[in-house]
Amino acid sequence: MPQHDVVVIGGGPGGYVAAIRAAQNGLNVGCVEMESALGGTCLRVGCIPSKAMLESSELYRMAKEQFAQHGINTGALELDLSKMLDRKNQIVTGLTKGIDGLFKKNKITRYLGKGRLLGPNKVAVEGDNPVELDAKHIILATGSISAPLKGVEVDNNLIGTSTEALSYPEVPGHLVVIGAGVIGLELGCVWARLGAKVTVLEYLPRIMPGMDSEMATEAQKLFQKQGIEFKLGSRVTAARVVDGKCVVEYEGADPIQCDRVLLAVGRLPNTNGLDVNAAGVKLDDRGRVVVNDHLQTNIPNIYAIGDLIAGPMLAHKAEDEGVAAADLIAGKYAHINYDAIPSVVYTDPEIASVGKTEDQLKQAEIPYRKGTFPFAANGRAKALASTHGRVKILAHADTDRVLGVHILGPRAGDLIAEAAVAIEFGASAEDIARSPHAHPTLAECLKEAALAVDGRAIHF
Ligand SMILES: Cc1cc2nc3c(=O)[nH]c(=O)nc-3n(C[C@H](O)[C@H](O)[C@H](O)COP(=O)(O)OP(=O)(O)OC[C@H]3O[C@@H](n4cnc5c(N)ncnc54)[C@H](O)[C@@H]3O)c2cc1C
Repeated sequence: MPQHDVVVIGGGPGGYVAAIRAAQNGLNVGCVEMESALGGTCLRVGCIPSKAMLESSELYRMAKEQFAQHGINTGALELDLSKMLDRKNQIVTGLTKGIDGLFKKNKITRYLGKGRLLGPNKVAVEGDNPVELDAKHIILATGSISAPLKGVEVDNNLIGTSTEALSYPEVPGHLVVIGAGVIGLELGCVWARLGAKVTVLEYLPRIMPGMDSEMATEAQKLFQKQGIEFKLGSRVTAARVVDGKCVVEYEGADPIQCDRVLLAVGRLPNTNGLDVNAAGVKLDDRGRVVVNDHLQTNIPNIYAIGDLIAGPMLAHKAEDEGVAAADLIAGKYAHINYDAIPSVVYTDPEIASVGKTEDQLKQAEIPYRKGTFPFAANGRAKALASTHGRVKILAHADTDRVLGVHILGPRAGDLIAEAAVAIEFGASAEDIARSPHAHPTLAECLKEAALAVDGRAIHF
């Protein structure tokens, strides 16, 4: 029976990073992944292909709507969707192969098959080459799966999840998105830019629950201007295919007939086939593996990371937990500051945030001061012809410590890195305000928002 210091089950951003880090720590590592390509949801059917499609579709929209204002006339534009999809697939293949290379470099043994716990130190690999592994430590990293919705008959074709929406063979005439969260909005934007009529049905009275509500309201207005239709407070009761068309029923209005439906109402932790009971690993009432501050389950040599446990379902959170679990197993110090994990919505404009929202501060009765700065007052944003949105910094009223940063605007996803570092370092708004920022850059909006916390923004 092959023996390993660490067996990782799942080869997504949590699992593959944990495997690499454990190998860097000098441990003998095996990684069990049931898909032929490593990289998990993120690389195969998540972060990377969605960003490739967002980038391509945004260029198409710009060519159609914005190039002319730069003095660039293109004539009639033609969309070659299959080429766009091929490009996306090539990016995915290149990156997943890259992880194969990293596994070889770090001498990690790859097992292709489904991992199942046989006990606290034993894992069965089920598949074409079944094998049992002996493990001193096990890291569970089996990620998440798309959540179903009662009454919605997913056929993985006309009514599908994000996986199908990354590869529609034609631009749907009318796409109905169920759920106004990050995934629904990003993919809704992709197909709207490529020419689909997009209707988003959301049960709650707002989009992007969890996001700073002021930013979410502003973003919704911008998405509406881009042609996306929102029906908020709409409870979907059924969706099915009838005679080759989709019919979506929701309370309080007539059913919608459309060409495709994207179900995007969230994701659930994936313990399918893992047989957590065999090792006695505890789950919480939402099916997530319960871990302590050291990412250990109730069985001390079994760790769990990523989408499988509580916390935001984000690739970089999974990666950081992978590194932490591998370091803790090796007897090193590790700590994750969950307050400093940024989240980004890659729409146009992008929306990014880190730390507390204004709603959370109000609810917790934490005294704060707020500084905002609009991109419309920034020279670089004007040069980019992308002036919508603003930066908002929330700092403690007494100590000036940065508690939350929220950005709606161009390249918000890149700009938020500075804010995450500020929160990690316990910086004050004054620290950001005193740090030189290159001119002309979008990052100057952060400096100005930090100055605005103290009422002394220069350019607004
Ligand atoms: C459309 C979409 C877009 C996204 N965009 C972003 C983004 O831009 N940024 C971001 O941070 N996050 C994004 N996410 C979320 C991100 O993909 C997840 O947070 C991340 O992949 C979680 O990593 P993980 O390692 O925990 O799990 P996963 O990536 O889900 O990996 C789990 C792996 O385990 C394997 N597996 C499952 N069960 C078994 C088993 N029993 N045996 C063997 N293998 C098994 C699966 O095949 C999978 O490869 C997106 C998700 C989606 C769906």
